[in-house]
Amino acid sequence: METHGLFIDGRWRPSAGSGTFETRNPATGETLAVFPLGTSDDVDAAVEAAQRALPGWKRTPAPRRAGIVLEAASILRRRKEELARTVTMEMGKVIAEGRGDVEEAIEFLEYVAGEGRRMFGETTPSQMTDKFAMTVRQPIGVVGCITPWNFPVALPAWKIGAALVAGNTIVFKPASLTPLGAAMLVEVFEQAGLPRGVLNLVTGPAESVGAAIVEHPAIRAVSFTGGVPSGTDVYAKAARLLKRVQLELGGKNPQIVMDDADIDLAVKGALFGAFGTAGQRCTATSRLIIHEKVYDATLERLLAGARALAVGNPLDPAVDVGPVSSSQQEEKVLRYIGIGKEEGARLLFGGEKLRGGSMDGGFFIRPAVFEARPDMRIAREEIFGPVLAVLRARSYEEAVETANDVPYGLSSSIYTASVGTAFRAIRDLEAGIVYVNAPTIGAEVHLPFGGVKQTGNGGREAGTEAIKEFTELKTVFVDYSGRLQRAQIDG
Ligand code: NAP
Repeated sequence: METHGLFIDGRWRPSAGSGTFETRNPATGETLAVFPLGTSDDVDAAVEAAQRALPGWKRTPAPRRAGIVLEAASILRRRKEELARTVTMEMGKVIAEGRGDVEEAIEFLEYVAGEGRRMFGETTPSQMTDKFAMTVRQPIGVVGCITPWNFPVALPAWKIGAALVAGNTIVFKPASLTPLGAAMLVEVFEQAGLPRGVLNLVTGPAESVGAAIVEHPAIRAVSFTGGVPSGTDVYAKAARLLKRVQLELGGKNPQIVMDDADIDLAVKGALFGAFGTAGQRCTATSRLIIHEKVYDATLERLLAGARALAVGNPLDPAVDVGPVSSSQQEEKVLRYIGIGKEEGARLLFGGEKLRGGSMDGGFFIRPAVFEARPDMRIAREEIFGPVLAVLRARSYEEAVETANDVPYGLSSSIYTASVGTAFRAIRDLEAGIVYVNAPTIGAEVHLPFGGVKQTGNGGREAGTEAIKEFTELKTVFVDYSGRLQRAQIDG
């Protein structure tokens, strides 16, 4: 059994405490590795290491910092299969998605390394003679990165890659369900030649390690991805210290199918969006809003498609849907399926726990399709599992009203043949991401990613926004006139 350490000040070492926890394969129940239950003392040590490393790292020219990030991308590419299998075994997504998780990390690191040669500020004319005005981007300092389990390599890579190129040093806490993928990513950065103390990993619970990161006065910014309740707690605690906080939270993402849509394409998109990663993507399609004129035809093909999905061991390339990530996750999804039935939604397909044979050790649920109403809990609350609520709309206006009538606003999609309807939806949907004739899932790393309403606090990851989230803007004036020029003085 592999027993890991924390990574603090450039070396793998035990925790200040003695507790440990196990990471398990949700398809089999097998224990994969043992990790230290970090403590607030470990966070203190990690912050001290990050503070010591900060002056040297922030003075390292950004293109050289980026060079190490690019080297990490190429190591990751060489180790892609090993990490992909780890992601699949630790989190349960099917192997093609495990590879996709690692590929997204590689692509983002390659992309953000290029930002090391940009990190643009602005130059603009001064209102005075012989005076120069510009802005420069500078690192924030020591930053905290806290990540969820559903993209165990890609999401940490998004945060760590951007924070490093921007010149920050890092204390990183991964989800307790997926510390192994996270530790391997940290190892990749170590192999790439990152100076000691620049990146520190502390595994352990939200209540001790997570809270200690959020409340540590020397951590100047926290980048957090997770659920709304946790994000709200993080935001409130960090507010007392006036910290920069980036929040990427939950979703209840709608796909609209208009009466002029290509129904086969829309159904393929819905099946992929709803049941890919067993519905455990923040951008997963959890509501399918179908125009009444194509309702029956779409539903019929949707159910045929759902019946054809193979559920099973995610390492088997023939499997479409793996297990959900843990027993708690299984309990939550089954509870919501119960809630759906109780509130009168019609369960048209699936929703049962799968048992027998190789399924017995794991957390397998057959993808569920409900016919629901927009006011039902299963159509409003994030379930984060393979459960799709199908809703009927009489018009474009009603479809958009239903789509927007939830507290979340991450991703959204509309299938239509009309350019006009597509552009109206781009304008009207309350979401950070809109897809036209494509499913709600499918981020590309060079575009900003994030949501509106309770999905976050307005920040964006990836794209050029990634660097902005991890830098402070400094405004600079250089007066070369040789005399006192007075601004903000009338006349
Ligand atoms: P979670 O329970 O909120 O946990 C996320 C991370 O935060 C974990 O590392 C967790 O530690 C830690 N944490 C939880 N509460 C905390 C607190 N009060 N203070 C400090 N740290 C805390 O979420 P999850 O179950 O891992 O992930 C699923 C959620 O993430 C879903 O809601 C999904 O929509 C969202 N998500 C959003 C995006 C996006 O970009 N918008 C992307 C992916 C996922 P432990 O693991 O030790 O509990």
